Amino acid sequence: MKFLIDHDGQKIHKSVFVNDHCMTNSKPSDWESLVEETALQSFTQKNYSYCVHCFQAYAG
Ligand SMILES: [Zn+2]
Repeated sequence: MKFLIDHDGQKIHKSVFVNDHCMTNSKPSDWESLVEETALQSFTQKNYSYCVHCFQAYAG
């Protein structure tokens, strides 16, 4: 699983589920790519949130 970090919007996206709704405020080309899920912790501790469009829409 690869994750994308949107630093401007302080959002964490799942790369495979990124859709048009994710790109309302910024583009994936501006986002940082991460492969390690464990690396996400450092961002959630900085109040980054999981994007509802690509996390909750496909949960389960
Ligand atoms: Zn998203």
